[in-house]
Amino acid sequence: MLLDEQQSLIVDTARAFAYERLRPNAERWDREKCLDRDALSALGELGFGGIYTDEGYGGSGLGRLDAALIFEQLSHGCISHAAFLSIHNMATWMIDRFGSDALRSKYVPRLCAADLIASYCLTEPGAGSDAASLRTSARPDGDNYVLNGAKVFISGAGFSDIYVVMARTSEEGAKGISAFVVEKDTPGLSFGKNEEKMGWRAQPTAMVNFDDCRIPASNRIGEEGQGFKFAMAGLDGGRLNIAACALGGAQDALDRSLDYVRERKQFGQAIADFQATQFKLADMEIELQAARAMLYQAAERLDAKTPDATTHCAMAKRFVTDTAFKVANDALQLHGGYGYLADYEVERIVRDLRVHQILEGTNEIMRVIVSREMMKR
Ligand SMILES: Cc1cc2nc3c(=O)[nH]c(=O)nc-3n(C[C@H](O)[C@H](O)[C@H](O)COP(=O)(O)OP(=O)(O)OC[C@H]3O[C@@H](n4cnc5c(N)ncnc54)[C@H](O)[C@@H]3O)c2cc1C
Repeated sequence: MLLDEQQSLIVDTARAFAYERLRPNAERWDREKCLDRDALSALGELGFGGIYTDEGYGGSGLGRLDAALIFEQLSHGCISHAAFLSIHNMATWMIDRFGSDALRSKYVPRLCAADLIASYCLTEPGAGSDAASLRTSARPDGDNYVLNGAKVFISGAGFSDIYVVMARTSEEGAKGISAFVVEKDTPGLSFGKNEEKMGWRAQPTAMVNFDDCRIPASNRIGEEGQGFKFAMAGLDGGRLNIAACALGGAQDALDRSLDYVRERKQFGQAIADFQATQFKLADMEIELQAARAMLYQAAERLDAKTPDATTHCAMAKRFVTDTAFKVANDALQLHGGYGYLADYEVERIVRDLRVHQILEGTNEIMRVIVSREMMKR
């Protein structure tokens, strides 16, 4: 796809930030397990806190394709920070798109500036892929709701200032779920231990617990019973962003491999001179270009709000994240034993990309979405 002038500018800006601010620190953030608030604030200053949020309350008003371009580039710097920013963008968009004016004016400008950071709380210990079976309850009580229950695997838990929480307001399956904004310091909100993870180690992942957690009724996003619909709408874009992060990470691994195979000599020649190496690199390039085309096509469909946009987002998420993981793993192989060492950073990319096949709907669930549509034909 040929980029227009604005898209080229967006790509250049995101890429410069990735190389100057993220990349030099990514290994340390992974080792020290820390998110960098200053880097997130700087991303907010660039307008990346609310990329596809409307301009009314401070969003950048860009499209989903623009967002994909940004997350792809940021992932050359640090996949973990880029993916975390993608979750923040998804939560910000949900509040802006479906919240009341009062809720939007209260939170969205500061979220877009990344002055406040948001997490997205859907998954529960007993409700993963079957998210609509969630049990966390939100009981109305005068001008409040009282939340009880627990969320698991929440990215940014304990770090974020705002939690977009899907909770049950009635027993009617998916239609009994509503969405709420919960502030970090609300009494009754607490966080579990930071999980030890294979990748995405720069971000905390933890349980979020609600124990008679009382929030104003005005913090409900949209109408009662609409929360699951909002959560799924958020995920269409979220899946593209997660795919874009995977693509950028894999491209970075390929770029690093291209440098490495030219330097590394065995049997008296650069390993780049073996045709086996060249064919491997060619396949990696072809696979990533196919993934990129599919991602951009799905983003264009989501921008155009075509009826098949959700299916295309699911197809892209499945294909791009699987392809990206394979390419990153191939890059590690091309580095030989050095690829396995932290110093070369390819092993971090492989570790980080593995979870992209699992979250925001596993790649099996992406197949469920695609095949369900196919069966209607
Ligand atoms: C690092 C990390 C960060 C995360 N961040 C967040 C977050 O910020 N917010 C949030 O809400 N959630 C988050 N998640 C949760 C993530 O979205 C879930 O882990 C994911 O949706 C899968 O749910 P599960 O782990 O319960 O697996 P399960 O649903 O138990 O699935 C187990 C296996 O069964 C398969 N399976 C299940 N149902 C079907 C089916 N119908 N057909 C075929 N196969 C099926 C799955 O594909 C998978 O292989 C995060 C997870 C991780 C690991």
